[in-house]
Amino acid sequence: MDTPPKTIAHARTLLDTGELTACELAEGYLARIEQRKDLHAYLEVFDDVREQARAADVRIAAGESHPLLGIPLAVKDNILIEGRVASSASKMLEGYRATYDATVVRKLKGEGAVFLGRTNMDEFAMGSSTENSAFGCTRNPLDPTRVPGGSSGGSAAAVAADAALAALGSDTGGSIRQPAAFCGVVGLKPTYGSVSRSGLMAMGSSLDVIGPLARSVRDAELLFGAIRGADSLDATTVPDTAPRISPRERYTIGVPRSFVEQGVDPDVHAAFEQGLTALRDAGHRVVDVSLPTLAQALATYYIIMPAEVSANLARFDGVRYGLHGDGGSRIGDYKRSRGAGFGPEPRRRILLGTYVLSSGYYDAYYGQAMRARECIRHDIQGVFETVDAIATPTTPTPAFKVGEKTSDPLAMYLEDIFTVSANIIGVPALSVPHGTLVRDGVTLPVGFQLMAPELGEATLFTLGAVLTGEGS
Ligand code: GLN
Repeated sequence: MDTPPKTIAHARTLLDTGELTACELAEGYLARIEQRKDLHAYLEVFDDVREQARAADVRIAAGESHPLLGIPLAVKDNILIEGRVASSASKMLEGYRATYDATVVRKLKGEGAVFLGRTNMDEFAMGSSTENSAFGCTRNPLDPTRVPGGSSGGSAAAVAADAALAALGSDTGGSIRQPAAFCGVVGLKPTYGSVSRSGLMAMGSSLDVIGPLARSVRDAELLFGAIRGADSLDATTVPDTAPRISPRERYTIGVPRSFVEQGVDPDVHAAFEQGLTALRDAGHRVVDVSLPTLAQALATYYIIMPAEVSANLARFDGVRYGLHGDGGSRIGDYKRSRGAGFGPEPRRRILLGTYVLSSGYYDAYYGQAMRARECIRHDIQGVFETVDAIATPTTPTPAFKVGEKTSDPLAMYLEDIFTVSANIIGVPALSVPHGTLVRDGVTLPVGFQLMAPELGEATLFTLGAVLTGEGS
């Protein structure tokens, strides 16, 4: 393999025609991972990649063909693969080995995908830069002095650097779309419940979803098709019989103008406008919409999410999972283990979460956030009665420098301003690269985000393909 295949679809053709074997493909990716070690996209490259590829070749030779058979993928470190370490990039789970496969992993194994390794991330998926990893940050392949975004920064960097054909990430408030935007790849946050969370380490259970990072919209669609579906192990999954929105020829796209025009980098805004023009040129209608509650989405997210984080991370008590610190008593053990296991960002969020849930403040914060969540849902659903999709930039800025925002958590949280709404109300959203800008002489990508009503992934794929030039 001299040059890596451009997409999964391309690799599929090469594998099916026998031009390339899964072993050769895997070998090429292992070499590429080694070459781009400087990026620190992977926390571990698996020792059985060649074995997995050989098994795929046997299945291909036997005439089997699945879209992902023999395709080398990377997996975020918070998704369980039986027998493998899954650490969520935390000291707390440094040596923790998964005892079962996440449902998505079971499905991909069934298809014969080849898992290259586990990718770096912000600790327990909390962050927007991968700098919160307990094992060192990942670098942006397009400019290694910049962050790849987060929390699925390792997955995005691996795909962008051709060190994986595609990857899995998780998105609680933007963690697939924002790194996809920073690294110039495609990222899909599926409808809440359309992909099983079984085997995904919980961050905010009412917000979390697993999704693909890929080199094309078509690839993201393929990967989504392989992992989606109802699951008896996750009671929040959507039944397979639920009606999905079918693709159409012409769409109406709503732009929340006043929201989009505030605090967005002018070059990002210019790229966004070019994207709208491309959609118009392809025959779609672009209209202005008013979504006044979007201005409250970030504050709402930063109450609901830490509340759920504080509950979900209570399981790390030094007894059942991961790190154990001896403190001489049960409470002592608890303090020692959690004190040593969690980095600053999980601690900050656990503190925030327990505060907003505490009896004296519950109504003022958590209760209020739940009411705000309903207002946001009502507002966006109202707009979806007149438009098929809502467009915004994915992020207000391009990839920022390593270290630029680490001492200012609020500046970091502002990165999520456009992405959190989709999680708050559970609808799907896609980030596609569209347009570029130049910083310090380096060309950087810009992400264009599209949000659709529940189970409207097909709308996103059709419109996203227009923006990436994959449209017919
Ligand atoms: N950047 C957001 C946060 O820090 C999103 C995280 C995520 O989606 N996992 O909470």
